[in-house]
Amino acid sequence: MTEIKTTCCVAGGGPAGMMLGFLLAREGVPVVVLEKHEDFLRDFRGDTVHPSTLEMMHELGLLDEFLKLPHSTVRELSLQIGDDHLVVGHFEHLPVHCKFVALMPQWDFLEFIADHARHYSGFDLRMRTEATDLLLDEGRVTGVRATTPDGPIEIRADLTVACDGRHSTLRERAGFSVKDLRAPMDVMWFRISRNDNDPSEVVARVESGRMLVMLNRSDYWQCAYVIPKGTADEVKHAGLDKFRNSVGDISPLLRDRLHQIDSWDKVKLLTVEVDRLRRWYRTGLICIGDAAHAMSPIGGVGINLAVQDAVAAANILAEPLRRGTVTVDTLKAVQQRREFPTRVTQRLQIIMQNNLIGPALASKDKRPRAPWFMKLMQWPLLQRIPGRLLAFGVRPEHVHA
Ligand SMILES: Cc1cc2nc3c(=O)[nH]c(=O)nc-3n(C[C@H](O)[C@H](O)[C@H](O)COP(=O)(O)OP(=O)(O)OC[C@H]3O[C@@H](n4cnc5c(N)ncnc54)[C@H](O)[C@@H]3O)c2cc1C
Repeated sequence: MTEIKTTCCVAGGGPAGMMLGFLLAREGVPVVVLEKHEDFLRDFRGDTVHPSTLEMMHELGLLDEFLKLPHSTVRELSLQIGDDHLVVGHFEHLPVHCKFVALMPQWDFLEFIADHARHYSGFDLRMRTEATDLLLDEGRVTGVRATTPDGPIEIRADLTVACDGRHSTLRERAGFSVKDLRAPMDVMWFRISRNDNDPSEVVARVESGRMLVMLNRSDYWQCAYVIPKGTADEVKHAGLDKFRNSVGDISPLLRDRLHQIDSWDKVKLLTVEVDRLRRWYRTGLICIGDAAHAMSPIGGVGINLAVQDAVAAANILAEPLRRGTVTVDTLKAVQQRREFPTRVTQRLQIIMQNNLIGPALASKDKRPRAPWFMKLMQWPLLQRIPGRLLAFGVRPEHVHA
């Protein structure tokens, strides 16, 4: 059995894990990041890079280079609910360098972080390496066991950080208790070609029994068709024609191209989960990102929250990791720092689920109406509040070193 020793082992190379690995390596902490896939080329993981993350790129001196990657910008987010057209956020008034949300494929984002992290000798990214279990010594987590194409390995570390997403193996192995906040919907993802004269902004529509969000990825639309939870089999059983018609009804723009969905293989199901751990840590181990709190896709804040967790964790942990003085209290400080923003964000997502998405999906005949609080937010001054919340979240983090 190959054994590796390091200071920090990060399991999972998503936004939380890659950013944490990069920031720790940048601060001189030896770090091994394990990613079970062979590359970052996985679709449907969210593309929205919000102003808080872009501002952090500026703090790291990477913003100009980052913005050279292919992306589109969203300066205003609007939502069509039945006959009501609402602006749910605009960003021009924000005191930041980028007054927009950048839509960038997540693999480009992760590859960019990996490229910069590789400049630091302490950064060791291991692809095709899947953490399968925790190593324990008298109740203390001392690393992980992992599988690789060359056989099993053990990574011994002063601290293990679980960044392995919402189906985290490590949080399950650690026996952490999860609070399930429930989501009323699942998402069917597919892509449809985009014409030059199509609108460039995000299209989001809520109608009785369904919802569609279309993200502009230059030559194609990445479409999220939202359905009531657990009804994917029913939708499939009703047949592709019915599915295409239903998409065409909610977005007539796509009608002439819907023949491109000629098989269910082109439609991927993502089951939406919203949950959080009651306690994020135990001696030698902490969870961050979706492993600590799976976010709903509402607001497209998941990547940004995961990145903010990584920044907070790096700010709090780097010095104790360098000195070898990480204690349970250090880990508790990370949860204390990030739990409040997580709770508030999930609360807001659940308010939207319960007052808009759930009722709209449940009603087959009555056209949905915008909830009163969303209409109130259309007043010009109040309109700034959701924009600010979407852009920065709650208690935004800044890179210390
Ligand atoms: C339908 C849907 C749409 C979404 N859309 C958006 C959006 O538009 N914008 C947005 O900001 N957020 C969106 N999100 C949420 C967002 O994708 C997540 O919140 C975010 O990616 C969390 O980052 P993470 O690093 O914590 O976890 P993940 O992104 O899940 O990364 C975990 C990584 O760990 C790897 N891994 C898993 N297990 C292991 C293991 N045992 N060993 C090694 N590696 C492992 C995985 O391969 C993965 O690369 C969406 C979520 C859903 C469900």
